[in-house]
Amino acid sequence: MKETMKLLTQVASVLFVAWIGTGKAAAQAKPFPGPDVPQIYQRLLPQIEKIPMFDHHAHPGYADDADVDAMAAPPGSAALRERDTNPELVAAAKALWGYPYNDLSAEHAKWLIQKKQEVKKQRGNAYFTDILDKLNIEKGVANRAMMADYLDPKRFPWVFFADAFMWPFDNQREAARNGDEQVYIPLQEKMLHRWMQQEGLTKLPANFPDYLAFVTRTLEDNKKKGGIAMKFEVAYFRSTKFSDPPRERAEDIYQRFVAGGIPTEAEYRAFQDYIFRFLVREGGRLHLAVHVHSAVGIGDYFNLSESNILNLENILRDPRYSDTTFVMIHGGYPYDRQAIWLAAVKNVYLDTSETEILLYPSEFKHLLKQWLETFPDKVTFGTDCFPYNEALGAEESYWLGVQSSRTALAAALAEMISEGEVSEAQALQLAHMYLHDNAAKLYGEMK
Ligand SMILES: [Zn+2]
Repeated sequence: MKETMKLLTQVASVLFVAWIGTGKAAAQAKPFPGPDVPQIYQRLLPQIEKIPMFDHHAHPGYADDADVDAMAAPPGSAALRERDTNPELVAAAKALWGYPYNDLSAEHAKWLIQKKQEVKKQRGNAYFTDILDKLNIEKGVANRAMMADYLDPKRFPWVFFADAFMWPFDNQREAARNGDEQVYIPLQEKMLHRWMQQEGLTKLPANFPDYLAFVTRTLEDNKKKGGIAMKFEVAYFRSTKFSDPPRERAEDIYQRFVAGGIPTEAEYRAFQDYIFRFLVREGGRLHLAVHVHSAVGIGDYFNLSESNILNLENILRDPRYSDTTFVMIHGGYPYDRQAIWLAAVKNVYLDTSETEILLYPSEFKHLLKQWLETFPDKVTFGTDCFPYNEALGAEESYWLGVQSSRTALAAALAEMISEGEVSEAQALQLAHMYLHDNAAKLYGEMK
């Protein structure tokens, strides 16, 4: 005890010298920001704008490109800021294209559509690279059904979809559950057939080992085609709580239903639980990150409690998957306060895409601040840009995502500086980590 006290005294004196050395008292953090927040914000924002970004999750592409996602949006209720009445979209069109009007009425939107067509003609395959350059995005992940030849793979790393492997049987009952599933499930069937086509299969393999070999081959080939991760949007189709059935059970279900017949819900889920875990394990073995949609979703029937990010905790904390890099896409919102604690696991990362659009910067700033105060080395930036329609394209949603994230980040860091949590230099370091370095490092390390 005495020794410990002596040691503490020594440490304290060293620390005291360090404080004096910096010429700035590193006192205890304050519970309120000071009046200097707006000035600090003004100083930080232009420096943040200069940081080249790694957009960890987005759906770049033209509005008429069916491959931009593996699923479609059913008619559902969009949050206020996501509606096409959002006046910020006019600001996006002005910033990107010099749009001369102050609204997006059908008449005025024609100008925008025509302008984009002209630029597309002029710039060809450089069109979307130009958008990245304009916004200072160094790399923009393209989470797409298939890659497009008009996206430069050096700038747009591909993230493909892996859910379809979990729906190989007769899906009548699955699709009949509600109007959303009627839209989603046939698209999953289509995706599975595209993977089969890619691998030269005209029908499903007759036995289970061959089915797993087909899954693995698809992952390997997608990696060769430039894939850096597999994405699950399984939360749209079923609960994200995965049990741990033995291989024999999955094999038995496969053998009984591969040629026809409808498995019971319990049987289908058990089969899917096995396949999900198989994919997660293969992700570790093949160095493909596993991206999981972990937040609230669109549509009328998205089940928030069944898709709660904490449902995945048994998977994320399973030592058998410690070689797999997980990225919790959309950071579990609105369970973001819980989500950040999952990033305590060394191979688990969070992404803020979609959240920066759902929330206004004044609210998104609180989420970012809490995350940066907890595991700043595990949080990454994303836009979730998407071509909603011809006028409101991926281009405009890129812009909104970038502006929202930069302003919220500058505001969160300004408060942290003012409250004495970090120095200005440390804050800029955190900005680099969030906007670029954490994601870049994650893929650099995985190779
Ligand atoms: Zn997305």
